Amino acid sequence: MISKIRNKELNLPIFCPDATRGVLRATDSADIENTDIHGLIVNTYHLLVNPGVEVLKKAGGINKFMNWEGLTISDSGGFQVYSLIHRKSGLGKITDEGVSFNLDGNKHTLTPESCIQTQFGIGADVIICLDDCADQSLSEPAMIKSVDRTIAWAKRCKAEYNKQIEQRGLDNQSRPLIFGVVQGGNYIKQRERCATELNKVGFDGFGFGGWPISGDGELNAEALRAVVESTKDSKYHYALGVGDPKSCVECVKMGYNIFDCVLPTRDARHGRLYVWSEKPSREVLDGKFYEYLRIDKAEYAEDLAPISEYCDCYTCKKYTKSYLRHLFKINDTLAYRLASIHNISFYSQLFEILQKGL
Ligand SMILES: [Zn+2]
Repeated sequence: MISKIRNKELNLPIFCPDATRGVLRATDSADIENTDIHGLIVNTYHLLVNPGVEVLKKAGGINKFMNWEGLTISDSGGFQVYSLIHRKSGLGKITDEGVSFNLDGNKHTLTPESCIQTQFGIGADVIICLDDCADQSLSEPAMIKSVDRTIAWAKRCKAEYNKQIEQRGLDNQSRPLIFGVVQGGNYIKQRERCATELNKVGFDGFGFGGWPISGDGELNAEALRAVVESTKDSKYHYALGVGDPKSCVECVKMGYNIFDCVLPTRDARHGRLYVWSEKPSREVLDGKFYEYLRIDKAEYAEDLAPISEYCDCYTCKKYTKSYLRHLFKINDTLAYRLASIHNISFYSQLFEILQKGL
């Protein structure tokens, strides 16, 4: 399905690697374009800390700052702040008003309003509501409270969004889209209630918040399905943080069409490369269609073949396994770049198949 966001034509489903701090680590925008990746996600919290929103405003927005012409989604930053607070409770607290936290000796506050204002400053094409990302082990009464807060914050986010649109004189073509984030853990009723209420507030798309993967590594399929079912009329369903290739395929079957994940680039930097088990096609997706190649293995020391015979990325066209292994061995940063280019190209190939329909 072809979709248009701010005059950017996109093929759905789309995979957006994480350029958390305004860079897809070890690569530049030309590298990313060459891999046929058309979207990136950046993080409000990290950009707020560095370089700061004022710098981005001066630069004319995150796309210009990064020299990136594709789609950009900014995440609310809530997840990072909660992780910070949950790791060390003295670092901040969450109230109905918002989240306050200490960082580098400075006190910061993230409210639904400031979160939206900051995202307008960042200037991404899609902005995300601040939600209350509760631990999935919460009891149902505690989860109900968390969902109540997520709904209340979504309403405040939408009100601030409308205010910004009006103040800036943006029309339907030039406005960023806004997505709500559905919480509720694995309590299906709470997922449905949250999704239904957010749908009433009115958003361009809906994200699955919280943990998509359970403790035993399985997808929380029932909860994931409940969110799509409760927001069927919406064009965009975003499976936040779902990113291993098999889970992407499963979620596309459920109706999700936007994905982001740190996995391909993080794995690349650790020399864990994704390779197709056989020639990529719609049919192979039903089985175990890929495997990891550990480039540090001794067997690749003199292997002069590319990483994958089924990949036509820049790295596979120009370099051998032997050379890449050597770069990792001597810790040269080129290793990270070439491995990242290959791994995100694997995702491009996967999503090209998914775009043709399952
Ligand atoms: Zn490749």
